[in-house]
Amino acid sequence: MKLIFLGPPGAGKGTQASIISKKLGIPTISTGDMLRAAIKAGTPTGVKAKAFMDAGKLVPDEVVIGIVEERLEQSDCARGYILDGMPRTIAQAEALEKGGIEFDRVISLEVKDEVIVKRMSGRRVCAKCGATFHVENMPPKAQDVCDACGGELIIRADDAPETVRKRLNIYHEETEPLKAFYAERGKLRGVFGDQTMEETTKAVEEVLA
Ligand code: AMP
Repeated sequence: MKLIFLGPPGAGKGTQASIISKKLGIPTISTGDMLRAAIKAGTPTGVKAKAFMDAGKLVPDEVVIGIVEERLEQSDCARGYILDGMPRTIAQAEALEKGGIEFDRVISLEVKDEVIVKRMSGRRVCAKCGATFHVENMPPKAQDVCDACGGELIIRADDAPETVRKRLNIYHEETEPLKAFYAERGKLRGVFGDQTMEETTKAVEEVLA
């Protein structure tokens, strides 16, 4: 099973991808997580990506395509995978297609911009392991402490309201055209994402059945 989760930043792609990935027993490949790990490790990819990410811009296609192609060759991807946050441009989708990858479903999580801005202001991530929480929707057991590893929970630089609006504009301009790209191929399934996490998961499972 090869899936893509499409949607604006903060639509819940990461959360839904991780739930579905556990249910299906396939890994989630999150380009955002990979890039943040590269920045933390100070690799050449991380150095290239940092300024773009901090500014809320997309990292150049060739950088992202390179790390994803390398990741998909690893053995845990043999039975399938979920792409979270990739592709984000038509060029990235074309690169995947050129690589001979055919997706079973592309799930587009539909959430309005105003809801996203409100949601992102409550988002917290673990500085140590990258796990995501939300002060209202998915609070950690202890305030500002990661349930998974005990690390400190922080607000991501690119979750600041001004940066979020910029990222939403980029989403509409560069990423949203992917809906037509995958609709033409008969793969697109829209899921209403402005509901509880459980309800969204149920709706995702329905389009996967
Ligand atoms: P995310 O965690 O998916 O919201 O990604 C955070 C940031 O990483 C984005 O705002 C981009 O700067 C960068 N990024 C992640 N995935 C991609 C991608 N597929 N193409 C370009 N930039 C990306």
